[in-house]
Amino acid sequence: MAAHEVQLELRTIRCPRCAGEIVLRIQADEVSGQVRLELDTACVSCGVSPWNESDQRLLVFRPGAAIGDSLAGAASDFAAQLSAAQTRVDALLARQTDLERDLQSAKRSVSRASADERRRKEELEAELRSDITRLEGALADARAEVRRSEEATRGSVTPGKRAIELE
Ligand SMILES: [Zn+2]
Repeated sequence: MAAHEVQLELRTIRCPRCAGEIVLRIQADEVSGQVRLELDTACVSCGVSPWNESDQRLLVFRPGAAIGDSLAGAASDFAAQLSAAQTRVDALLARQTDLERDLQSAKRSVSRASADERRRKEELEAELRSDITRLEGALADARAEVRRSEEATRGSVTPGKRAIELE
């Protein structure tokens, strides 16, 4: 990983506070074949960004990747992840519904069963409960995964930064 920063002097845009020179700061971070570019402006005299709100932008650049290719690639990656996660969620929900039905039926049976049968049914019920607990955990994980995929698709970044729709 290598991070470095360059500054470009802007010619006409001036600091709104002190009328000093404004520079465009570009910080490049190379991570696994991608270059993450962070851009913002700062006043040379004030030493900081003089604007009321941060103008910082993040751009992920993939050297060698055509714009169409990398955009389509990223979008289809996310779509595939999202679709796979949604399929898992659907399957888990269906399984959970089945298990809940089994559990209800097991409970009804328990009330009719003899003592021996009851013990066996209670074991089955405990088994089903632990299955349900496990499935609920898996469901929560899958939902979290869906959320992460959706967030990744929206391209939200840390506060103060906005992802831009270019690569
Ligand atoms: Zn200034």
